[in-house]
Amino acid sequence: MSYKLLLDMDGVLDDFVGGASKAHSRTSPYEDDQGHGVFDMEKLWGISTNDFWAKCQGYNFWFWMEKTKEADEIVNLATAYFGVDNIAILTSPSDPDRECVEAKRDWIKKYYPQFSKRIIFGSAKEFLAGPERVLIDDRDRNVEDFRAAGGATVLVPRPWNKENDRSGKVLEVVKLGLAVIMGVSNDIK
Ligand SMILES: [Mg+2]
Repeated sequence: MSYKLLLDMDGVLDDFVGGASKAHSRTSPYEDDQGHGVFDMEKLWGISTNDFWAKCQGYNFWFWMEKTKEADEIVNLATAYFGVDNIAILTSPSDPDRECVEAKRDWIKKYYPQFSKRIIFGSAKEFLAGPERVLIDDRDRNVEDFRAAGGATVLVPRPWNKENDRSGKVLEVVKLGLAVIMGVSNDIK
């Protein structure tokens, strides 16, 4: 057995919140501390789920998503620990947006072609959990379910999750989390 890493995309590698805010011509609901810890942006904006997704869909919405500022370093860190061949991207397809999967695949090929043969689409991420399986994700529920199913996890601290008070320290938290899981205390660069 060897450790395998499942790396989330939205909110970890791509700036979904930025993309959604732009699509709605609104400022991010997380600029206000009151929104912290609430995952669903539409609740903070006071709009319906349908109205939210009506503007967050289609090939261009997903493909032109910007990288998060930590994305490259998260990938570098993950690669140092696991090796590129042991990393897959695990991302939820936006249902029923048929163009989401195609656009996300193209996005990965554009920015991280080293993972283009290991892209897994699915929302029930805990089905891939088990011994020596690690998930890096920004959603509380995904992390909790994956852990309950026997996997190890690192929650990327973001304003919309439980670790929001550490959202300015993404790389430190990811690095420490991986070091604990992999049982190493030395610095990997
Ligand atoms: Mg995510």
